[in-house]
Amino acid sequence: MPLEIELLPILSDNYCYLLHEPASGLSGVVDPAVEEPVAARLAELGRGLDWILTTHHHADHTGGNLALKERYGCRIAGPAAEAAKVPGIDLQLAHGDCFAFGEETATIIATPGHTAGHISYYFAASDALFCGDTLFALGCGRLFEGSAETMWKSLGRLMALPDRTRVYCGHEYTQSNARFALHVDHENAALVARVAKIDELRQAGEPTIPSTIGLERATNPFVRAGDAAEFGRLRALKDQS
Ligand code: ZN
Ligand code: FE
Repeated sequence: MPLEIELLPILSDNYCYLLHEPASGLSGVVDPAVEEPVAARLAELGRGLDWILTTHHHADHTGGNLALKERYGCRIAGPAAEAAKVPGIDLQLAHGDCFAFGEETATIIATPGHTAGHISYYFAASDALFCGDTLFALGCGRLFEGSAETMWKSLGRLMALPDRTRVYCGHEYTQSNARFALHVDHENAALVARVAKIDELRQAGEPTIPSTIGLERATNPFVRAGDAAEFGRLRALKDQS
């Protein structure tokens, strides 16, 4: 039975994700920036919390860790390479590790660039990827702690996943990413069609997430760059825009 995934908007434009593995009943949350909305939703669902899955150390992804751990006695998994900066971390994960979540398993993919130790969680049997601030719908994370080469390699690892993989990223940045994408790739018909859909969704107050790897492959200018140098130029251009 696939993982049940619920998107929860928090702060101004962050998403965290509530996970439920039906066979074991395990409950988890990816990147809880704050405690309250997560606890409120878990109460509505009549669930506790067994695991927090952290992608990277930034406060808008880890700010709720300690309060949730205190409230539920849950354990916290996160990136080994930046473990000292992840509040409450119990389980340190690195590239290639398997994280067992009931009957589901996440393969850990190292995706440095936005931060030096950033990891992504890939649940292959559920076709779900939690990639924090590495890959966004039509965009990618800023290079705070890594070079263009590093991020390019990380994006390549994600783009090697099957097209059907659903992409659950850390922010609703899609509409602003779409403006930039059109600016640099306005003759891409798949992109133009996608942006129309995105604008409809946002107009209706709906999330644009999840995306899929296939959709990003067809429309995301950053992953469509020819090489690390071209990627770096695009990233710099976007930073100035
Ligand atoms: Zn971040
Ligand atoms: Fe973030």
